Amino acid sequence: MSLINLKNLLGHAKSNKYAVGAFAMTNIDFIEALLESAIEKKSPIILLLAEVHFKYLDIERVAPIIIDRARSANIPVCVSLDHGLNFKTIVKAIRCGFNSVMFDGSKFPLKENISQTKEITRIAHAVDVSVEAELGYVGGESVGEKAPESHTPDKNLFTNVKDAKRFYEETGIDALAVAVGNVHGIYKGEPKLDFELLKELSDTLPIPLVLHGGSGISDDDYKKSIELGICKINYYTGMTMAAVKRMRAYLTENPDVNSYPDIIKTSMLAIMEDVKERLDVFGSTGKCDSSDSLCLSCDDRSCGINIRDNNHSSSGTISYKDLIKTISDKVSNNILNLSNK
Ligand SMILES: [Zn+2]
Repeated sequence: MSLINLKNLLGHAKSNKYAVGAFAMTNIDFIEALLESAIEKKSPIILLLAEVHFKYLDIERVAPIIIDRARSANIPVCVSLDHGLNFKTIVKAIRCGFNSVMFDGSKFPLKENISQTKEITRIAHAVDVSVEAELGYVGGESVGEKAPESHTPDKNLFTNVKDAKRFYEETGIDALAVAVGNVHGIYKGEPKLDFELLKELSDTLPIPLVLHGGSGISDDDYKKSIELGICKINYYTGMTMAAVKRMRAYLTENPDVNSYPDIIKTSMLAIMEDVKERLDVFGSTGKCDSSDSLCLSCDDRSCGINIRDNNHSSSGTISYKDLIKTISDKVSNNILNLSNK
């Protein structure tokens, strides 16, 4: 088990009522910090690279490293482009080997958002890449030294249920990011999610729903959102704030420190603590553990255990059950051969 696309991963989350954490990376150290946290928690994870963060991590340079590391992790990992703003970026991410893309056409009028998302979905699905889109407008994306800034959600820009149904039917997307009182960055005042709207969207749409702007939402509200159909939670601001806070404290306590890697390591430990807490709250902890295993419940090629076996050369993968049967058959044959000698 290693790379899994968003559709398969969120399908499991939806039927098992948990959410998969999707964490944005803004430097290379995030890759290890995020994967190590998920491995420790025996949890699936989604690694995100957002187009607005290409100024920190160039997708073409960093993709081989991310994908190689994700492949070797013994947990299901989805590698997704976050908030791709145009056709060119989406195709670039697919070409780089990302197995999921989010196209954010939320700033366009509905008709334009549908037509662009539909075209992108057609192309992505042809190569088994999943597509997430956004309808309504979450807003508040900020980047740079002063980010994150605080924002208040605009009720007029919440996801409209009728539009969402039409959007899903016409585009064929795999997951939808909804605006139900969530914003990116820091919330101005207490976040107040519209659970009634979320329930209505969830009852209307058969696909998993996504909550962007996960930082600042209370644990109870996360859990309620997951009960009402949220299967993926995007989380970034909380991690970056935890890292900066820890780094400041470390430098204050150790004013003579001049070891750059130790400063980075300190901040990454803060990120790991925050991420592990989120995985517990999202309910994905332990999903890759023996009996309650995502690996075991996975019965198709995309989630199979990768082995090079002649009996399965067409797919290059084999399900766990088949693997056990293959091994048992081989052991029995060897015993028979020995007893016949
Ligand atoms: Zn977002």
